Amino acid sequence: MKLTVLGSGTSIPDLKRNPPGFLLEFDNGKNALLDIGPGTINRLLELGKTINDINYIFLSHFHPDHSLDLISLLFVLKNNIYLNEDKPIEIILFSSSEFENFYKNLIQTFYGSTDAKEKLIFKSIDNGDINIENIKISSIKVKHKDESRAFRIEYKGKTIVYSGDTGYTEDIKDKLGNFAKGSDIFLLECAFSDKYLPSVHLNPTTVGKILEIAKPKKAVLFHFYPKVQKTDIKGTINKYYNGNIILSEDKMEIEI
Ligand SMILES: [Zn+2]
Ligand SMILES: [Zn+2]
Repeated sequence: MKLTVLGSGTSIPDLKRNPPGFLLEFDNGKNALLDIGPGTINRLLELGKTINDINYIFLSHFHPDHSLDLISLLFVLKNNIYLNEDKPIEIILFSSSEFENFYKNLIQTFYGSTDAKEKLIFKSIDNGDINIENIKISSIKVKHKDESRAFRIEYKGKTIVYSGDTGYTEDIKDKLGNFAKGSDIFLLECAFSDKYLPSVHLNPTTVGKILEIAKPKKAVLFHFYPKVQKTDIKGTINKYYNGNIILSEDKMEIEI
């Protein structure tokens, strides 16, 4: 697998860091997006890809910094903007069971109908593990919004775990730490500095405590608000976890 960072930032406009979005490429020719924040589709173009190249989307939750390009995608699908007559777009979107309602509201607000030739097919990840094209997908609830989920994606003996956004409790530390245990890449949010312990995001200390349990081969951090970027993120985390910490940047490529 190969992970490319399309957006390492937040909802705060930043020329260097787009809101969250990641491209995951499998060597069976399938490609996935982990979240689809605003600018994700354009970032794909910068990498020489279009939405035609995407087979799966894993949507962690509905906050606009993670989901806004879904509206652009629906517009593409409905109007066949990239239509390739031989191979219309067919994307499977994996998310919580709450997605169906969210989707219906989006369609109603923006389009009025879903009768497009190109397709977005929803699959709930709340009914147990999913196996598709030799890719195994699992998920757990995290502490952010009701629909927030973290994903574990396994393929050919390699594992990537994506936290989405999450707050911290002792329970989340154990649950998320164990969910990501032994992963090759743990893509984990690190939104705020240690001055803040918000209920819906992590800071370097709480990231460190989760990594202490998970012990991934590589911890790839994202979702940096401006204040945390001015602090010693790695130094703080090193008190708990001495592995490979990568502070992700847009367009960074990481082999898994
Ligand atoms: Zn969020
Ligand atoms: Zn977010």
